[in-house]
Amino acid sequence: MTRALIDLDAIAHNTRLLAGAATGSGVMAVVKADGFGHGAVPVARAALASGASWLGVTSLREAMELRSAGITAPILMWLYAPFETLDEAVLADVDVSVSSTTGLETLARAAERTGRVAVVHLKADTGLSRGGATEAEWPDVLATAAKLRDAGLIEIRAVWSHLAHAEDPADPGLRRQLEAFGQARAAAREAGIEAPLTHLANSAAVLQLPEAHFDLVRPGIALYGAEPIPGRVFGLRPAMTLESTVILTKRVGPGTGVSYGPEFVTDRETTLALVPAGYADGVPRITGNRASVAIGGVRCPIVGRVAMDQVVVDVGEHPVVPGDRVVIFGTGEGGEPTVDEWADWAGTNAHEILTGIGTRVPRVHYSVESNETSTRNPSRPVECAEMTPS
Ligand SMILES: *Cc1c(COP(=O)(O)O)cnc(C)c1O
Repeated sequence: MTRALIDLDAIAHNTRLLAGAATGSGVMAVVKADGFGHGAVPVARAALASGASWLGVTSLREAMELRSAGITAPILMWLYAPFETLDEAVLADVDVSVSSTTGLETLARAAERTGRVAVVHLKADTGLSRGGATEAEWPDVLATAAKLRDAGLIEIRAVWSHLAHAEDPADPGLRRQLEAFGQARAAAREAGIEAPLTHLANSAAVLQLPEAHFDLVRPGIALYGAEPIPGRVFGLRPAMTLESTVILTKRVGPGTGVSYGPEFVTDRETTLALVPAGYADGVPRITGNRASVAIGGVRCPIVGRVAMDQVVVDVGEHPVVPGDRVVIFGTGEGGEPTVDEWADWAGTNAHEILTGIGTRVPRVHYSVESNETSTRNPSRPVECAEMTPS
């Protein structure tokens, strides 16, 4: 009933566009959080086939999902506890980000136990205050890294950091971060660490901040087709269409309460359509009485509270019947709302909407490179023959 159609040609298009924007740099496709809800493995394959050469994830679990699927491309993981055992990462050729001397020791122990060299990316905190070593900790991290490298336990492949705000190139915080990153790199060189790779840029920086490109760029949201810089359009194509089906309609009179509460009461005779998609599927509860969906190309409002499993849509006098397709969001080309509109209705960003699509919603991946124009139109029903179940 409710399903997410994933246009892998859009992923390919976005990867090519980002690779083009970062000429001379490699692309690390960030496929964390199950590929921002799109399915990590199919997205990774599509990105790797269209110009990406690296994959970025948070946890070991995410990295192993890619390796288990037979993906051999370089992978970086950057979130774990230093008391976790990282032997599996080392054995599976997964590069690990390190922010502390404790993290380095953890990797060294994994290297000793496995008899393999652990590959690390040293992370500097340049102002985000999440992962990464602070300026004060950085010299210790560098010294420990050099020592473990000399002992043959680790290989230092990269020095990297993450930006707090890359949407405005003139932002003073951004300028400070670029400056701090330059200092962190210089300190690494002085400590005798010549890492072959340097990386910093997220989506916004890939598209408008060439000085942050270095050897590798790490786009996430742009890969999935959401424009990362408010008010600017780079030609990215949204990859996900979230669709459902009308399962019941009813004619009601004025004064009819709708859904829990009720927080909506009809003011006229109208037709209500029941759509089996609720907050467990990723329709934010806060969007009741705010959001719309498209049925037959016509936008109709969600009325009353969003329930766990369903919403009610006021379709008025439109001739809607059970079985009609409901587009919750898509590219917008067929008149349906976009992810950005949903983000506005929910007071959040596109990232949260996409990663919030429930696990019970099937992801249906398709690719029709041969017929590009028609695939871009989400109101064209996708034929079963074009689909490959994820
Ligand atoms: C999520 C993430 C990215 C991608 O960020 P976008 O803004 O979605 O492009 C890049 N690097 C790191 C470390 C991340 O956590």
